[in-house]
Amino acid sequence: MQHAVLSDIGMRRAVNQDAACVLLAESQAGWEKYGHLFLVADGMGAHAAGEMASRLAADLIPHQYIKQQSALPVEALRKALIEANAEIYRRGQANVEFRSMGTTASLLALLPEGAVLAHVGDSRIYQLHGDQLYQLTFDHSLVWEMQAAGEVTDETARSGVIPKNVITRSLGPNATVQVDLEGPFPVTVGDRFLLCSDGLSGQISDEEIGAFLRVLPPEKAAQIFVDLSNLRGGPDNITAIVVEVVDPTIATHDKRATFSRRQPFDLSKFSTALAVVTAVCLLAALVLALWAPALAIVAGILGLIALGTGFVQVIQSRGPSDDGSSRYGKGPYRHFKAAASLALFEHLAGTMKALREAAEERHWKIDWSAVEPTFRHARVAAENKDFVTAVRMQSQVIIELMKQIRKQRSDATSDSAIDL
Ligand code: CA
Repeated sequence: MQHAVLSDIGMRRAVNQDAACVLLAESQAGWEKYGHLFLVADGMGAHAAGEMASRLAADLIPHQYIKQQSALPVEALRKALIEANAEIYRRGQANVEFRSMGTTASLLALLPEGAVLAHVGDSRIYQLHGDQLYQLTFDHSLVWEMQAAGEVTDETARSGVIPKNVITRSLGPNATVQVDLEGPFPVTVGDRFLLCSDGLSGQISDEEIGAFLRVLPPEKAAQIFVDLSNLRGGPDNITAIVVEVVDPTIATHDKRATFSRRQPFDLSKFSTALAVVTAVCLLAALVLALWAPALAIVAGILGLIALGTGFVQVIQSRGPSDDGSSRYGKGPYRHFKAAASLALFEHLAGTMKALREAAEERHWKIDWSAVEPTFRHARVAAENKDFVTAVRMQSQVIIELMKQIRKQRSDATSDSAIDL
């Protein structure tokens, strides 16, 4: 298991109200019981309240989870969020400064049965599995809820008419909370997970998230997520936990772990031949009914057998079934193809160009020679259609440039050193 955690204040905020927590099991026995835990919380509330709420979630939830020793892991996850909610609510009520403080909480547990999630709010958990990026969590935001209720079209939702940052569920503001449980999802070696706050998912598209997770190791992926979010304005705090599964012992063999769900009846799968046989037999039965009742009965029975056989085939063609008790939630909610592309490389190259212009205009001292060879390497790879190498190299260029800019920014006495 490799992982990286980064939390950044962003470009516009005075405080970082995000919190993150990683709790790895220390032994095989510990893992079998509790799994490895990863959590992102995004706090909201005036002044110190948001920080307090997300900090409490990050501290209380793992603690409460471990405390529920006798419960099933999934039930323990739910209880942990419910207990944390009660405590954050209690503290909010006790102090006027913290009144109605809240936080999102997205918790991933990698357990022997697979990846299991407990989630409230609009932070997200993604899983890269093969060449697909899955969003495992539902955004508890106004726009997602309205879309799910069919009150707005996908197009309206994307247009930005409904503000994206209105969240419908969080820990803290109310005495009770409804917790989403999801999973178990299958885990295989090479899978990656991203837990992030909306400061990241609001700035970086799902396609980009998939591509970076696919081609970069966890530390580099987390860094490029933070750097790109900042380069795009960094309007909010940015938090990323990237996990890569490298240990085959934590891969799932449990058949309950699946991405697909029982599908509805699909009558188009009804065999054409059987449909014809059914129709002919039943029609013959009707016609024969008047002057050869015995033959009509035989034709009728044959028709019903054909009909029954057709339905059995339709039922069997449905996806893997689950017994309903071992599966939680309706995730994954969306999925995307994850691939490094020429477009992504060109975008990163464009970002570098913009940085160069900004640097010249503002007289930043940047050592361009440090990145030139890598950039040339990336360019050649792109020309040879090796977009994996091109994106990997160009990400390295952005990371190096941002490192230099951050250093200048922290060296400068004013905060005006960077304003892209
Ligand atoms: Ca946020």
